[in-house]
Amino acid sequence: MATYPATTVVMHHHQPNIHMFRELPVRMRCQYCSAEITTSTTYETGTLTWVIAGILLLFGLWLGCCLIPFCVDGCKDVVHRCPSCQQVVGKFNRM
Ligand SMILES: [Zn+2]
Repeated sequence: MATYPATTVVMHHHQPNIHMFRELPVRMRCQYCSAEITTSTTYETGTLTWVIAGILLLFGLWLGCCLIPFCVDGCKDVVHRCPSCQQVVGKFNRM
């Protein structure tokens, strides 16, 4: 009778103040200025943007649509900033 190793998915909660950062602004306490804030989000070109651009480059170079991912916010990483102190409090990385 084989003993199956338990597939343990260990969730690491290093910090009590972990938020899931996605596209939408998050209500949280800023770890820099301790203000109760709703994060302001900006989009920045991330890894996925380049991957999609690379794929489109292979298939659609003649259409120039390799530039599309740079225009579509849905392909970009989302950076959350504190509107009070402008520090980056979180980031949603799509890769
Ligand atoms: Zn702040």
